[in-house]
Amino acid sequence: MWAEVLRSHWGIGATLQPLDGEYDLNYLAKSPEGDAYVLKVMRPGCDPALIDMQIQALAHVAKAAPALPLPRVLQTPEGVSVITAPDGDGNLRLVWVQQALAGQCYATFSPHSQSLIQDLGAKSGGLAAAMREFTHPGLMRDFKWNPVQADWIKSNIDVIKDPARRKRLLEVCAAFTAIKSALTTLPVQAIHNDLNDYNILVDLAGDAPCISGLIDLGDICAAPRICDLATAAAYVVLDHPTPQTALCAIVSGYHATNPLTEAEIDMLWPLLQMRLAVSVVNSTLMARKNPDDPYITISQAPAWRFLETPVDALLRFRLRTACGLPLDNPAARVAQWLDTARGGFAEVIGETLTDAPMGALSVEAATNPRDPFEITDAEAASLGADQFEPSDIWLGYYGEPRLIYTAPAFRKGQWKASNRRTVHLGVDVFAPAGREICAPMAGTVAFTENRTGRLDYGGMVILRHETPQGDIFHTMYGHLDPDSIAHLQDAQRIEHGEVIAALGADDCNGGWAPHLHFQLALTLDGMGTDWPGVADPDELDVWGAICPNPAALLNLPDAHVAHVAPDAVGVLATRQAHFGSNLVLSYTDPVMLLRGWRHHLFDAWGRPYLDAYNNVPHVGHAHPRIQAVVADQLKRMNSNTRYLHPAQTAFAEKLLAKLPPALSVCWFVNSGSEANELALRLARAATGARGIVTPDHGYHGNTTGAIDISAYKFNAPGGVGQPDWVELVDLPDDYRGAHRRDNPDSGARYAAQVDAAVARLADKGHKPAAFIAETFPSVGGQIIPPPGYLGGVYRRIRAAGGVCIADEVQTGLGRLGSHYFAFEAQGVQPDIVVLGKPIGNGHPLGVVITTPDIAAAFSKGPEFFSTFGGSTLSCRVGATLLDIVDEEGLMQNAKAMGARLKEGLEQLAAKTPLIGDVRGMGLFIGAELVTDQTTRAPATRAASYIVNRMKEERILMGREGPHDNILKIRPPLTIDADGIEMLLDRLGAVLSETGAQP
Ligand code: PMP
Repeated sequence: MWAEVLRSHWGIGATLQPLDGEYDLNYLAKSPEGDAYVLKVMRPGCDPALIDMQIQALAHVAKAAPALPLPRVLQTPEGVSVITAPDGDGNLRLVWVQQALAGQCYATFSPHSQSLIQDLGAKSGGLAAAMREFTHPGLMRDFKWNPVQADWIKSNIDVIKDPARRKRLLEVCAAFTAIKSALTTLPVQAIHNDLNDYNILVDLAGDAPCISGLIDLGDICAAPRICDLATAAAYVVLDHPTPQTALCAIVSGYHATNPLTEAEIDMLWPLLQMRLAVSVVNSTLMARKNPDDPYITISQAPAWRFLETPVDALLRFRLRTACGLPLDNPAARVAQWLDTARGGFAEVIGETLTDAPMGALSVEAATNPRDPFEITDAEAASLGADQFEPSDIWLGYYGEPRLIYTAPAFRKGQWKASNRRTVHLGVDVFAPAGREICAPMAGTVAFTENRTGRLDYGGMVILRHETPQGDIFHTMYGHLDPDSIAHLQDAQRIEHGEVIAALGADDCNGGWAPHLHFQLALTLDGMGTDWPGVADPDELDVWGAICPNPAALLNLPDAHVAHVAPDAVGVLATRQAHFGSNLVLSYTDPVMLLRGWRHHLFDAWGRPYLDAYNNVPHVGHAHPRIQAVVADQLKRMNSNTRYLHPAQTAFAEKLLAKLPPALSVCWFVNSGSEANELALRLARAATGARGIVTPDHGYHGNTTGAIDISAYKFNAPGGVGQPDWVELVDLPDDYRGAHRRDNPDSGARYAAQVDAAVARLADKGHKPAAFIAETFPSVGGQIIPPPGYLGGVYRRIRAAGGVCIADEVQTGLGRLGSHYFAFEAQGVQPDIVVLGKPIGNGHPLGVVITTPDIAAAFSKGPEFFSTFGGSTLSCRVGATLLDIVDEEGLMQNAKAMGARLKEGLEQLAAKTPLIGDVRGMGLFIGAELVTDQTTRAPATRAASYIVNRMKEERILMGREGPHDNILKIRPPLTIDADGIEMLLDRLGAVLSETGAQP
């Protein structure tokens, strides 16, 4: 019947679908043309003034801020916005219509990212700004959701039966009462007043989700604007994994469009808690009226959980600094005073530091520690030893990200690749142990302690100082000799320049090279005497404000000791200006990585990433044995194959020992592409034929000759096109899971395609010289061909006079876990084997191995020479790599870790229809994403979303396949259980996000 009302009054024919609503009937109305509306049928007896107020408010906002995503009200052709119509019971109802907005409820959308929350802040700030001038007689409302009157709950608190919870609510009420008088002095204006998570819409248009609707002005009233922000914030923090960062995001977003005062920011937390308190009391009262509705109380759980978690002591500072405001007035005055007093402080080590050199210990500059997860005692005790003598005086940077803080206390999450605190909040003064330390200005002793933990401070002192204006601040001195501070008493007066301590040696200072850690704090609120000396790079706003650069107290300019972060934006701009744009960067927001260790990489801020993508560092990033052998050989000589060298034959012998005896002759080149080109030359020399058979989508190649046989490159848009001497065969459809499920003979069937390809070559006047393929095609998406496939192919090619080339670049050297080379798993023996990238662990190296007969045929031709191929250095790297795989048991590790990974992915696949297939062997694994399990249509967009999101979760993985819909997991063979479990855990979370849904 309401559809008829819509048609007769607005002239809109539409089908209706009910929407949720507390009192009123709301319908989503969809017209056959695809237009969508919200039809609002008010409860009987609804005050028309209330609807009028909403309609006018919406009209006001549409005019004042047309870009804001608020619904527009639709008038009837007669120009009427609201009509009256009887319902089935004969009650008269007010009816009005809005244009529907795109998007889904914030409550059901995930993830609630920082940028999305910031957008919500910005748009709600914009809304409040737009409503500032709106007036309406109905705005002064006396009702339970009036935020200034929230303390009505005090007299209803008895409905809460649990005494602990009652006590908690009374505390919240007390905090509200404490700010109430200040709150009531703030200007009032029209506010939305119900920005709860069902009244906020999110749209996933483009790459980044954004707020696409702020709806339901039903609770609009006049109140201070901060109450509006407190309501939105209350729903944003509920169950957010890091509520304080979420709160900072919404507040900074709001502040950007509607600047807040410090006083308002300080009221936010009590108001937010009060809003949640009203919500739990209200719903408990409602539950009493509707005892059969369990939903009412279930929905309280997150609010209670949040009300019962302790408040973050630094919250006030976090919020202020997120808005770019100073901590507070005294802090701002101290900072200013320090600046003017610079030059007049006593020298902390009794001599000027003006000429002391700076020593970088940054992620970018330093290679100590070798293992960024575990600094050794020797490394900690020798910081800077590569640049300075132990007797030198030198300074360490403020604000510098470092990898030396490897103790568990610095790690913030569960995994090795979780966030950690890396950024130095003080300045270091390196000087010999025993050196006396002086107070830069007069003060009193606030705190002393001997912190004996490894990598801690050893002896440390905090001094309290007062500026001439009477403001208090503190300085901290760490890594002192504990004996030298034993005489200091709490509150003891210290004079300007007085000796307070001596530097400790590494046996008493936490284990470090002797140095003073000197740090300034503008407040101790929320921190006390337990100062972090290093901060999480993602929390630098607040920590940089609490502990700013202390250079003034050292009589140095700030810039002198301030670390300058590597400029990823500048690198990107230079790259875009000077590199071809087909040199593709991974990720929508590219990442700059400066250090690596085993299966982890680190960005400039020391944030660790789990590398589940790169197969080139086969035995891990920065492997010490590879480093050592490279350095060693470069100290000696590095030349080519024109001279005898035992390293060359040693590498050849080691490699050949891994291969069937018939494959006994090798050539060394610089890349996989070059190796494949050489393999084709060998095949042609041996057969006298030119034709090549290769799988469609089954093969990589980067240089011209290799592109000729790489269908995915020559058939790509702008590609060179298929040469007439190349014929393609389809890949076994294992990647659609078909052969395993219902097609046991697909190996033989696909192999039979070779005959047709050979016939097509013959039609063009070519005989087959070779079949060339990745044994297990990675480009096709980590395809494991069915048993018997390659056997059938090889037999047919050989019968037609060709030879068989196995590209083992990705699949060789133990990655599969069960076999050293993939051809072993197919039970075949190739005539030519190609190896590339992993064999050099990043050093350019490729190898072609063949039989003596084929080698002899090729050797009849002109001289073969590759200047760098088979250099002394390359050969030593290759030989060392083979040793490492064996000695570290990496093939066995690939088997064990690969099995757990595959099992975990299969468990995820059982939970999400997005994963259509999990396949691969060892650490060569693909997860195929589909939009529909039956048609198996590729979920390309979801795959892109997931790979980008996994990067944000600090995990690198790739995409593969003709449709780029196969998640490619191909880590260094060192990956451990921590890495596998982290990947599965985070992937599970990302798969459930809205953006990952097909
Ligand atoms: N073969 C395979 C299987 C590969 O994966 C690649 C590189 N993606 C190549 C050959 C070409 O190697 P390169 O980049 O060293 O030329």
